[in-house]
Amino acid sequence: MFVIADFRIIFGERGKDFLPLRLPLRVGPLRFIGGDFGSGLVALPPSRKEDDRRQKVEIAESSDQFVRRNVLSSRIHLPSEDRPATSVSPTASPVWYHPAKMKKWFLRIAAGFLLLILLAVGTIFLSERDMQNVTTRVKNDARSAIKPDWPGNALDQKVRFVNDEFPYLPKTTDLLKWQLGENPFENEKLNDLKRLEVKDPTAFLAGAENGILWLGHASFLIRINGTSILTDPVFDTPMFSKRLTEVASPLDKIRDVNYVLISHDHRDHMDEATLRAVARKFPNAKLFAGLRSDDVLNEWRTPSNPIATAGWFQKFDTDESIGIYFLPVRHWSRRFLFDTNWRLGGGIVIQTSSTTIYFGGDSGYGRHYREARELFPNIGYFLIGIGAYEPRWFMKANHNSPGDAVQGFIDSGAKYLVPMHYGTFDLSDEPASRPLQTLLEEAEKSGIRDRVLPLVINEHLPIENLEKTTNEHI
Ligand SMILES: [Zn+2]
Repeated sequence: MFVIADFRIIFGERGKDFLPLRLPLRVGPLRFIGGDFGSGLVALPPSRKEDDRRQKVEIAESSDQFVRRNVLSSRIHLPSEDRPATSVSPTASPVWYHPAKMKKWFLRIAAGFLLLILLAVGTIFLSERDMQNVTTRVKNDARSAIKPDWPGNALDQKVRFVNDEFPYLPKTTDLLKWQLGENPFENEKLNDLKRLEVKDPTAFLAGAENGILWLGHASFLIRINGTSILTDPVFDTPMFSKRLTEVASPLDKIRDVNYVLISHDHRDHMDEATLRAVARKFPNAKLFAGLRSDDVLNEWRTPSNPIATAGWFQKFDTDESIGIYFLPVRHWSRRFLFDTNWRLGGGIVIQTSSTTIYFGGDSGYGRHYREARELFPNIGYFLIGIGAYEPRWFMKANHNSPGDAVQGFIDSGAKYLVPMHYGTFDLSDEPASRPLQTLLEEAEKSGIRDRVLPLVINEHLPIENLEKTTNEHI
């Protein structure tokens, strides 16, 4: 607090330029906010103190009448060393909790907080105005890549990840514009009370059959040939989110988890409470995520939960019966104030000898869906986000509209589209039932309606043994 109260420490000797009222206001509370460099918060060199004192005496002498009139009538209380012998006797208490001193301390603390907030906001605004220049590239050298010429994920001058195709830094001004602006769907949203049905997953979870169980939002339990995989598990309500559908946590019914796959660090995908609980219950479950995500996952796992991170186009270490790959998406990342694009997000492909499943995480539309097809020509199930897409001017860069999802599905060449990321949390402007309704309309128009397989929450889809999968990546 001392540092904050003394402008010389923050601004150097130029600090005095910020203080036009220095002498006239050497009374009252402003003295401690910035009105007096020599006020005892930080010890001044003797020469400065002496200068100050001399200056005050000069003023007192040159304004003899003013001082006499105000000091003697107690309207101004000069410090004791300046007070004329004839003035009123000192009344200041040396006790630190004297009300006047407490008030000063309160003001110092308040000023400190204010300054910290201003510095934080300033830093965020400045960082958001950056151009992201690619300075280097990274990948996990311990992992194999399925795209041999891939040079690694790009990093900018502030070592943040950059999407080569769609560089993106979120802007607080845009967020405020959205949050403070009108929602054109507001009335429709208020009147849209349709909610997703919630089934009981007990029977599927107690069994052993292959299937894709939707647990709401981007959370799935995928069971293939005895291997159980959780994607982006969120079984409570993350901070800043509002649930549209109450769903009991399935954790007590889940019997086994071998892999936990996390697409990116946003709180509706990487949930601390859920991941801690999953790690406690399944201490051997492996946690897989994008580069640098281990900084938070390390805090949440148990000592026996292995963590692995990968760059785009890299393969995680798994049992031989399954392949798990990290692929590009068009999105961004941040959990706190100053970690924008610090952790890498992606989509994930799960491949067995008979099935390939694409889990899209969060993404706007881009060439990555076509690219997924080039790498995995026989995708069976395409799990794709269709919600949180309005307003388009704000969401388009990061979330598919239902129409984008249909186009991405067609690009990917997948057999079935399983929609996700809608109906669970209220994250955007569109009414709750709009994403699925629009998806079905778009699918109809594109002639793929029979390949769209929507689930309700806790419903599962049996996994077909698809006739042929190239398998070259396993
Ligand atoms: Zn996200």
